[in-house]
Amino acid sequence: MKRRIILMGPPGSGKGTVATRLRQEFGLDHISSGHLLRREVEIGSAIGQRVGLFLENGELVPDRTVLWFMGEWMKSAPLNDGFQLDGFPRTLSQAKALDEWLAKRNAPIEAVMLFACNLTLVLERITGRWNCPKCGRVYHIYSAPPKVAGLCEDCPTSLTQRTDDTEAVVRKRFGIYKRHAKPLADYYEQQGKLTVVDAALSPDERFAKTVAALN
Ligand code: ADP
Repeated sequence: MKRRIILMGPPGSGKGTVATRLRQEFGLDHISSGHLLRREVEIGSAIGQRVGLFLENGELVPDRTVLWFMGEWMKSAPLNDGFQLDGFPRTLSQAKALDEWLAKRNAPIEAVMLFACNLTLVLERITGRWNCPKCGRVYHIYSAPPKVAGLCEDCPTSLTQRTDDTEAVVRKRFGIYKRHAKPLADYYEQQGKLTVVDAALSPDERFAKTVAALN
């Protein structure tokens, strides 16, 4: 099975739900750049103070900052055990930097999953989305509810809604995603690593297609 993978897709495309199952069933570490950055904002670290406004406004954190931040993660990551990157890389220059880091460690990306989703569906999904602030697990009031309302099944911590999950900010995040997704997808397509999955499929179908692409 391919174990070094990237999950791409707009907010609300179901990346997080697929990632949770890949972690549970195949032990793939889930690295969400957005979750890691939000945690820095919450604890008020130096980097958190620098990125807070970008996150709140739904704008991309500048490449230089993200590259430094993710580079730190990469230094201590056990790359050969496999990992799923979610939310990183987001731009072509981030993708190129990532490829360089991984080439040095002899652990290249093996597959890229793109969950294609239109704005109408994104808006529908995001309004029902709840997150665990501790582990980052994503729930949805209709399609993926927690066993006990309002509580993460893994932690258990009270679920919260992200401050950037309002309609106006989601519209903006979607637009920014669209601008960067095409060059990024083309880059991985040229490497023969890209698989596109229709995000409108059910969570089970999305998961099955992902597993099939990784095998
Ligand atoms: P989404 O659900 O919109 O895909 P994420 O949790 O991946 O959201 O990211 C939330 C926010 O964190 C983004 O709007 C952006 O401000 C910041 N962020 C996360 N990853 C990156 C990245 N690779 N490059 C720049 N900014 C990022």
